[in-house]
Amino acid sequence: MSFFEVDARLQALSDKALANVQDMFANIEAVTEYNQQKVLSAFIRHKVSESHFAATTGYGYGDRGRDVLEEVFADIMGAEDALVRHSILCGTHAITLSLFGVLRPGDTLLAATGTPYDTLIGVIGADKPSSGSLTEYGVGYREVALIDGKPDLNGIITALREDPSIRMVHIQRSRGYDLRPSLSVADIEEIVKTVRSVREDVIIFTDNCYGEFVEKCEPTAVGVDLMAGSLIKNPGGGIAENGGYICGRRDLVEQCSYRMTTPGLGREVGASLGHNRTLFMGLFHAPHVVGEALKTAVYAASLFELLGYTCSPSSQEKRADIIQAICLENAEALIAFCQGIQSGAPVDAFVTPEPWDMPGYDNQVIMAAGAFTLGSSIELSADAPLRDPFAVYMQGGLNFHSGKIGILLAAQKMLHNNLLHI
Ligand SMILES: *Cc1c(COP(=O)(O)O)cnc(C)c1O
Repeated sequence: MSFFEVDARLQALSDKALANVQDMFANIEAVTEYNQQKVLSAFIRHKVSESHFAATTGYGYGDRGRDVLEEVFADIMGAEDALVRHSILCGTHAITLSLFGVLRPGDTLLAATGTPYDTLIGVIGADKPSSGSLTEYGVGYREVALIDGKPDLNGIITALREDPSIRMVHIQRSRGYDLRPSLSVADIEEIVKTVRSVREDVIIFTDNCYGEFVEKCEPTAVGVDLMAGSLIKNPGGGIAENGGYICGRRDLVEQCSYRMTTPGLGREVGASLGHNRTLFMGLFHAPHVVGEALKTAVYAASLFELLGYTCSPSSQEKRADIIQAICLENAEALIAFCQGIQSGAPVDAFVTPEPWDMPGYDNQVIMAAGAFTLGSSIELSADAPLRDPFAVYMQGGLNFHSGKIGILLAAQKMLHNNLLHI
């Protein structure tokens, strides 16, 4: 089979890389099967029906499909309630709705797992002025830094004791563009218990981006009050065309709905415009697709470890999200890797990604993505801010077979540019 040109030495390393991770693949399969049954049984329990795929227009009052989708979603996430909408435009929007929905002037937001994801810096607006930010609305902000990449539980306790205005604790499950480890659901549960030991009433929020279906349960099932994420990452299964979700405690989800639309109207409006079918179908496929993305990530780590690079997580480590960081050590290697990934995409394989000044990010960023859905990162994609240690963050892969060839072509491009030593 030679549809693609891959150096014979690289091919041999690839076979070895795959053999080294068979146990990891078996674990992934087991979680996928569990989550797929969880999702299927929720669809059956809520009597999902063809009639739920019908489009509504205008105000969207009485959109039964939209309402059932939200019930199914909440059930799967172990939450009381959910908003799942194509009109929530992305993960940042979902998180922003959660923060603005719940926080009021005079409240303080405590980021308990270090500086949040890049695009939230402007939403918070504490570092530098940002129009429309939480800071402008009189919401305070504090941060507890991670210690060696791990949550500082004592620091969290101290902050909560010192500052009674803290109303919400923010936890980020995924690493984002950072080399810290992602938090497992068990790690998050530990933070929940720590927070509750000091303050019963504080609202615990989790940015769940990239974490959905990686483990058998989600943060809302272990005491997190409110959680948000993107539908062009894990829970859209590569099928949702856009969208985001918020789920958690019913009273909090309701508050968010008044920010999502207007006070009074809340969740009752929002025509689904024919998106229901793809959102249901994407959610149904999500556990499997996340499994394929995880296999792609584990294989990539295994191969690049054999090539002499440091991978985080390592090929043998337990995972809490679908992101794979590979420290490529210099800009040339990083750019070649991304260009190689792009060359193996089903869409736009012929274009060459270059670094650019992306809105919301401080450094130049290079992004490789040849996706059916623009910007979808459940499809194989790689992005990296051009900063030391030149780590590429790759994720996704709708199926392992195409993900694998994408990774191989990334290595091949590096070899072609004389950046690999094998
Ligand atoms: C992707 C991501 C976001 C933002 O989501 P967008 O859909 O890109 O707006 C927020 N937090 C984390 C950890 C993410 O990975």
